Amino acid sequence: MMQPALELVIAALEKIRETSNYAPRASRNALAQLQFVAPNKVQMLASVRERVCGCTKCAHLASSRTQTVFGVGNPDAEIMFIGEAPGADEDQQGEPFVGRAGQLLTKIIKAMGFAREDVYIANILKCRPDMPAGSFGNRAPTPAEMQTCRPYLVEQIDIIQPRVLVALGAAAVEGLLGARGTMRELRGRWHSYNGMPLMITYHPAYLLRNQSPSEKRKVWEDMMQVLERLEKPISEKQRNYFL
Ligand code: URA
Repeated sequence: MMQPALELVIAALEKIRETSNYAPRASRNALAQLQFVAPNKVQMLASVRERVCGCTKCAHLASSRTQTVFGVGNPDAEIMFIGEAPGADEDQQGEPFVGRAGQLLTKIIKAMGFAREDVYIANILKCRPDMPAGSFGNRAPTPAEMQTCRPYLVEQIDIIQPRVLVALGAAAVEGLLGARGTMRELRGRWHSYNGMPLMITYHPAYLLRNQSPSEKRKVWEDMMQVLERLEKPISEKQRNYFL
């Protein structure tokens, strides 16, 4: 696969050749360096993953985690889903959204006409928030933990450059935008992160706790807005779908 920077330079050289009387020149060495500074997305993500794997910035999380949970999916994804933090299942398996909430997210992704492998899924936190000894369940990430881990997510977004971001739940919004608000006022409309369209919707775990069809429908309507933004056709069956 040709590297993006190299591609740009070749296109520029071709333009010079077409529009001027002078033959464009670039040394082999200069081109080799371009190839070196522009590794492809897979390599760039692998290098961030490596740093995440060894991260000890939050000493308490580094010592309590089974493993870090980096992110999964297509480096060229059009959609990137952003959750809060790994839960117990994710901590065990090293992959985001594989527990009950994850199964619901996978169902939503499929109903949108994608496979899990087509999109990219990541969290604000790469470590499971630790729990006091003897207690069960999950706790929300602290603002300090989110701020510490956020740069990794920012790097993932910068590399993947999805066409649309989807923030799942209030913690994802706070981690990404630093903005607090109620989901009722935030969800269902377009926001922006660094010029990228950002849809905010309920976290699938919320839908598991609140099984009311109207709340599920809201998430589905948010996802249809995402499909519209991506100019994907929406079938009649999809329009009438209830999660
Ligand atoms: N909830 C999240 O926010 N992320 C996961 O990976 C799993 C559950």
